[in-house]
Amino acid sequence: MSKKNKEGFETRAIHAGQKADPTTGAVMMPIYTSSTFEQESPGVHKGYDYSRSINPTRKAFEECIASLENGEVGFGFSSGVAAISACVELLSPGDHVIAMNDLYGGTVRLFNEIKTLSQGIEVTYVDMTDMQNVLEAKTDKTKMIFVETPTNPLLRVVDLAAIADFAKSEKILSVCDNTFASPYVQQPLNHGIDIVLHSATKYLGGHSDLIAGALVIGKKDDALVSRMANIVNSLGPITGAFDSYLILRSLKTLAVRMERHCENALAIAKHFESHKEISEVIYPGLSNHPQHDLASKQMKGYGGIISMNIKGGLEKSKSFLERTKIFALAESLGGVESLIEHPALMTHASLPKDRREMIGISDGLVRLSVGLESLDDLVEDIEQALK
Ligand SMILES: *Cc1c(COP(=O)(O)O)cnc(C)c1O
Repeated sequence: MSKKNKEGFETRAIHAGQKADPTTGAVMMPIYTSSTFEQESPGVHKGYDYSRSINPTRKAFEECIASLENGEVGFGFSSGVAAISACVELLSPGDHVIAMNDLYGGTVRLFNEIKTLSQGIEVTYVDMTDMQNVLEAKTDKTKMIFVETPTNPLLRVVDLAAIADFAKSEKILSVCDNTFASPYVQQPLNHGIDIVLHSATKYLGGHSDLIAGALVIGKKDDALVSRMANIVNSLGPITGAFDSYLILRSLKTLAVRMERHCENALAIAKHFESHKEISEVIYPGLSNHPQHDLASKQMKGYGGIISMNIKGGLEKSKSFLERTKIFALAESLGGVESLIEHPALMTHASLPKDRREMIGISDGLVRLSVGLESLDDLVEDIEQALK
């Protein structure tokens, strides 16, 4: 169980779940690689029996992320999609999910190609920036609302309090994928969302050197917590000890990293807002963003991701992407280094073209994950690649 929010975010990022090691006094959490733990008598042990069920290094990561999200209990996963998959395991055949229509491509694939078949759930995708669409999509089978905000890659912002209030009134579980914001920028549980989850591969890990996920349950709900613990223990999609350690290390700098990610991204968005080679810069921090006011209320800073529509469509956007030097052409986001990618050809290629176009992922769209390099160098890199 995480301690509730008594200390500041930065303090908890460094200390939550982590006490000096009682046997040696080690100040930093050791990497406990042991798969099993000695018992004094059958069933009598120090709280640890087998590392799939519980591991000291992973437990420290889980307590730390639970504290940062202001929740009760955290779970560490082997990847972000493993966290999403475990979350969907809470549902039964026939259950209906309402999901945001602009979701991480891998989540759509998990829903459409795996879970609807293996688990018999049904998913309806709607634009949740208009609550009316959510109300209309609800059926008497709806058991989960799955939201991502800001969305990937169009950076639409969904009103978390409105979703949470509606879900509560209808006794539906609300889930938010908070990967794009990180808990420093946005804390969905504070708005009444039931479960928050992450691809820890992105900002939590922060250095593009691991794959992991996390999930935090917001309220003291023993039935939900023990159901999730049972799902995790039964399926086994856990974070390994080494990765748990790396994430703990990364979380210590999450606040300073996110501040700079947000600062650099805002400056770049403003700089290129009226550039002649760009038809549109999409960033929640710009005053022309359709949910700018909501973002200002719901988020602390506007995140490190920007999307841009390059004039000239596919040809022009491809040659732009080939020419950036500091921005590396690669999928993923949230690391200290800047990355750039083409959603239609890369991260969202698994979506059918008509669906992509329906939600607004055009062939000229590029997505930038703004890193922590010198701002002037980043601006110059984009300028020279647009020439
Ligand atoms: C990357 C990502 C995921 C999937 O996470 P993995 O760690 O790659 O499994 C889920 N949601 C969002 C928003 C992501 O960006």
